[in-house]
Amino acid sequence: MPRALITGVTGQDGAYLSQFLLGKGYEVFGLVRRSSHLGVADHRLRWLGVVEQVRLVDGNMIDLSSLIRIVERVQPDEIYNLAAQSFVATSWDQPVVTAEVTGVGVINLLEAMRAVAPRARFYQASSSEMFGKVQATPQTETTPFHPRSPYAVAKLFGHWATVNYRESFGLHASSGILFNHESPLRGVEFVTRKVTDGVARIKLGLEKELRLGNIDVKRDWGHARDYVQAMWLMLQQDEPGDYVIATGRTTTVRDMCQIAFAHAGLSMEDHVRIDPALYRPAEVDLLLGDAAKARTKLGWTPTTSLEALIREMVDADSERLGSRRADGSARRD
Ligand code: NDP
Ligand code: GDP
Repeated sequence: MPRALITGVTGQDGAYLSQFLLGKGYEVFGLVRRSSHLGVADHRLRWLGVVEQVRLVDGNMIDLSSLIRIVERVQPDEIYNLAAQSFVATSWDQPVVTAEVTGVGVINLLEAMRAVAPRARFYQASSSEMFGKVQATPQTETTPFHPRSPYAVAKLFGHWATVNYRESFGLHASSGILFNHESPLRGVEFVTRKVTDGVARIKLGLEKELRLGNIDVKRDWGHARDYVQAMWLMLQQDEPGDYVIATGRTTTVRDMCQIAFAHAGLSMEDHVRIDPALYRPAEVDLLLGDAAKARTKLGWTPTTSLEALIREMVDADSERLGSRRADGSARRD
């Protein structure tokens, strides 16, 4: 039975990747950081019905000693580094934490692997945010980077650390440059989920309006379920490498919003208010990925359209909020 260690197992991708690897017969270990809210962190694993099968181990990306102990104990065949302070907007408010977890955390894990499991295969969750102020469109593995937030700067550090440890020590370390990917398990602070949650609230009469920032920006959005398969495929290759994972279609936040409101039979114009306070200090205006390398070398293609993704998210939020309202606990905590 192959063994996988997933950091960030309680996040969106960690949950989908756990489900995917368990389906392939893996023994899955997941790193969780200690919290006083026992049983809350694993809500996504519960939602997917896999919480009983994932073996949770305590550790933290900024504590090298914890990572060495865990990697030594688990002796994984594959390590998926998904842990991060992953929200761009927060990275301006907490740049040091972001640098430590999202950036230095990668080196910590690579060091742990180098010391006690050098034959394992390593996946780094890099991000299209590294392209930032894009130097070419569409973006490929060879497009120069220009990060626009502390988050993107930290991700760039993690990306180059992964490349460097591959080149310096011959580790099987790959970096997936993933464009935005969403699902009903996406954090509610990200714009797709904020919109689908907001639409469901308005439809149920719980809220009247939805406040958004810059809705003219464009993103290349796919489904997380498709994207975790690409992570696994990268680690099945004889040679490690870097891959752009994207749909090849870009859409404005405004048009994504229209899809969500229309699915609920509502008009976006009646409910969306623009709040300048939600504008970012520096913006990434356009992301559009070209995943030709992944298509050719990994045989990977996305299967979910933006329309299908957004409909699935609106339906899931409506169901979730509807059942909470039935037991009298509908308002967000
Ligand atoms: P989430 O924000 O949903 O999950 C982040 C995970 O990291 C959580 O499990 C969180 O744990 C964990 N984490 C945070 N800080 C620490 C720490 N100090 N030690 C240990 N674990 C920690 O992210 P996603 O699942 O959406 O994304 C997965 C990865 O892919 C991230 O690295 C993200 O930056 C990257 N990425 C995501 C994209 C996307 O569109 N989703 C696009 C490109 C890259 P806890 O539950 O305790 O908070
Ligand atoms: P990101 O691409 O990782 O930053 O993912 P997000 O989902 O957080 O943001 C995508 C884009 O939507 C960014 O360009 C944001 O500026 C824009 N956006 C507009 N309004 C909002 C909002 O209210 N919340 C968030 N999170 N993003 C917004």
